[in-house]
Amino acid sequence: MLPVEQSCFWLATREGYVANPSVQGETTADFAIIGAGFTGLWTAHFLKRLMPDAEVVVVEQSVTGYGASGRNAGIVSTSIDHTHNLAISHFGQEEASRLARLGLQNIDELESFAKDCDFERTGQLQIALTPGHMEECHRNLDVASSLGLEGFRILSQEEIQKEVHSPLYLGGLFVPGGGNLNPIKLVDKLKTDIEELGVKVYENSPVISIDNGVVTCKHAEIKAKKIILATDAYTHHLMPSLLWRFIPLYDYILVSDVLSAKQKDAIGWHNRQGMVDGRTFFNYYRLTADDRVLWGTSEAVYYPPNKVDETCDHSQRHYDSLRASFKRHFPDVGDIDFPYGWGGPIASTTRLTPFFGTAHGGNVVYGLGYTGHGIGTTRIAGKILAHIAAAKESELLSLKMVTNKPFPYPPEPLRSLSVNAVTSSLMKVDKGENPNLLLKMLDIMGIGFSS
Ligand SMILES: Cc1cc2nc3c(=O)[nH]c(=O)nc-3n(C[C@H](O)[C@H](O)[C@H](O)COP(=O)(O)OP(=O)(O)OC[C@H]3O[C@@H](n4cnc5c(N)ncnc54)[C@H](O)[C@@H]3O)c2cc1C
Repeated sequence: MLPVEQSCFWLATREGYVANPSVQGETTADFAIIGAGFTGLWTAHFLKRLMPDAEVVVVEQSVTGYGASGRNAGIVSTSIDHTHNLAISHFGQEEASRLARLGLQNIDELESFAKDCDFERTGQLQIALTPGHMEECHRNLDVASSLGLEGFRILSQEEIQKEVHSPLYLGGLFVPGGGNLNPIKLVDKLKTDIEELGVKVYENSPVISIDNGVVTCKHAEIKAKKIILATDAYTHHLMPSLLWRFIPLYDYILVSDVLSAKQKDAIGWHNRQGMVDGRTFFNYYRLTADDRVLWGTSEAVYYPPNKVDETCDHSQRHYDSLRASFKRHFPDVGDIDFPYGWGGPIASTTRLTPFFGTAHGGNVVYGLGYTGHGIGTTRIAGKILAHIAAAKESELLSLKMVTNKPFPYPPEPLRSLSVNAVTSSLMKVDKGENPNLLLKMLDIMGIGFSS
C-alpha cells in the first residue's frame, strides 16, 4: 500500500509543499517545541503572542502535519470535553458549563483564524440508527439545555431523511456550532503564521532524547530553557513514563472520488453537516470541499505494545468494513470508488480528555490525549502549554482537566487484555446487548473507552 503521504487525501492533495531544512549542529532557544502538529503549532502561536522576543523553535520528525493533525477527518466539534455528558460526570455541572462556553468561544476564534482553510460552519448531525440511539439524542438535548447551550434540535425520521437520505436513519439530533475544515490547510496556515513571527520550524529532524534541557537529534543539539512535548500519541517514544496516562490507538478513514450529480441527488446532504451515529464504534463522515465523501470509523485499534509507526498506517480489514458500511448506509449511490485510505494515531485517556503536566524538574512541559477530538481542543491546549511554559497566569490553568490527571491505564500484558475485553464488550452493546458487569464497573469508575 502507498505511504501515508500519498494515501491520505489531505497530505496527497497538499499544494506545493516544500519542507524546511532539518536542524544541524549546536544551537540554543528559549523554548523548544517537539512536534509540528496542531498542539505544537498553536503553542508556538500563543508563546510568540505572550513573549514576542522569545526564541522559539519547533522540531518535527517528518513534515509539519505528518501526525494526526494532517490525517484527521476535519470535523470540528465545539466540545473540548469529548461529550458534555462525560464532562458532567468527570468534572461536575459547573465545570461542564464552563467547558461548553469555552468550547464555543474557541471555535468562533478558530473560525476567524481559519477562514481560508475550507472551514464550513455547518453544525453536526448525531444520527439514530436504533430507538436506543434516539433516546440518547433526547438525553443529549436535555444535557445541552442544562448547560445553557442553545440551538440543539431533535430531528424526526422524516426530517433527518430530508437532510440526508439513508434507509438506516431513524432520526437524530442537530448539534450547532461546529463544522468541517481542511486540516492540512490549517496546519500550513499555522506554520506560516508562526514563521512570520520569527519561529524556526525544523522538519525531518527526529528527536532522540530530551535530557537535561537538551533536545538531541541525530546531527544536532538544541539547548533550551523549556522543552514542550507536543507529540500526542508518539509521546512515550520520548517519555515512556507517561504511558500510565494514555493509550495510543489507530483510527482509519476512506475518501471517495468526487460525487457525480446523480450520486449527490441520491444522498441529499445539501447542508453538508459532519455526521456521527450513536454507536460506541460509530461511523463519522462529511463531504470534502470538492464533494467527496470522507468515511471514517471510530473502531480504533491498539497495536501492542503501544506501537506507533508507519506499519500501522493501513488496515485492509478496516477499509473492507468501511466500504461495506458505506454501502449499507447509502445503497442508492451505486458503485463508488474510494481511492484514498489511511490511518493515524490518537492518544486516548480513560476520561477521553487531555491532560497536562511538567517533568524533569519543570524543564519539560507536556499536554496530550485528545482522543478523537483534537482539532478544537489543541488550540486551547496550545494556549495552556504556552502559559505554563512562559510561567504566565491564565484562567485556563484552573481547569480541572489541567489540574487533575486521568485514571491510569495498566501496563502490558494487562493493557492488551483489558483493551480486548472492553472492546468485545462494547461491540456486544453496539449489537443491542445490555452493558455487561465489566462496562458497568468502568462506568461507575468514570472510565471511558473510545476513540
Ligand atoms: C484518523 C483520525 C481522525 C481524526 N478525526 C478527527 C476529527 O474529525 N475531529 C477532531 O477534532 N479530531 C480528530 N482527530 C484527532 C486529532 O487529529 C488529534 O487530536 C490532533 O491532531 C492532535 O494534534 P497533536 O498536534 O497533539 O498531535 P499530532 O498531530 O500527532 O502531532 C504530533 C507530531 O509530533 C511529531 N513527533 C512525534 N515524535 C517526534 C520526535 N521524536 N521528534 C520530532 N517530532 C516528533 C509527529 O511526527 C507529529 O507530527 C482524528 C485523528 C485521527 C488519527
